[in-house]
Amino acid sequence: MESLAVIKHDAVPWLRLVAEAWDHGAIAPAALFPAPGGVAAQIVETIAGSSTEMAVFLACGSLRPALEAYFAEVRSNLGPHDWALGVCPFCGAPAAFSDVLEDGRRRLACHLCGGGWFFPRTKCPFCASERSQDLLRLEPESQDQGYLIIACGGCRGYLKELDRRVRWNGQSALVEDWGSPHLDLIAHRAGYRRPVPVLIGLSQPI
Ligand SMILES: [Zn+2]
Ligand SMILES: [Zn+2]
Repeated sequence: MESLAVIKHDAVPWLRLVAEAWDHGAIAPAALFPAPGGVAAQIVETIAGSSTEMAVFLACGSLRPALEAYFAEVRSNLGPHDWALGVCPFCGAPAAFSDVLEDGRRRLACHLCGGGWFFPRTKCPFCASERSQDLLRLEPESQDQGYLIIACGGCRGYLKELDRRVRWNGQSALVEDWGSPHLDLIAHRAGYRRPVPVLIGLSQPI
């Protein structure tokens, strides 16, 4: 909560409401979990003045350390062909980033629990469309070699992707995602949205 207050000063009154609701038992950790309405949907519905960006940032910041430890022992049980959905097989959050690994396979990343799973490169993780005319690649500037925006004309969703065969020294999916807000601006200006909000959206509307 302190980190959020530093990034977004005008979130302080909202954070007070969250703290009060927490203290009174109106919300519990489960309120931050993924739900049909999105990650931390219960927070957005319960606390006045909520934005999805603030609620999801709070969820990722507070749940991830606990969920990473909680799921640590079961990660290795997930085989490459065990899961075919675009939501995290561990916590249920939507895919937040895409990595292309050295062998050419695509691995989707979950920011909420730190999980990852293999997913076809020819399929939209959000609406499962496999129509080639739906899936678009928005190429960034030349200095962003290895980065790509994968957009879907079917559901208007998008995901940023890093080809680690080109950028072998890339950081974790979360760091790469939050460190490339200019790519989100390109996608937003082209009319695409993502279910896991953009960090830059906390400090300014995009
Ligand atoms: Zn997850
Ligand atoms: Zn789609």
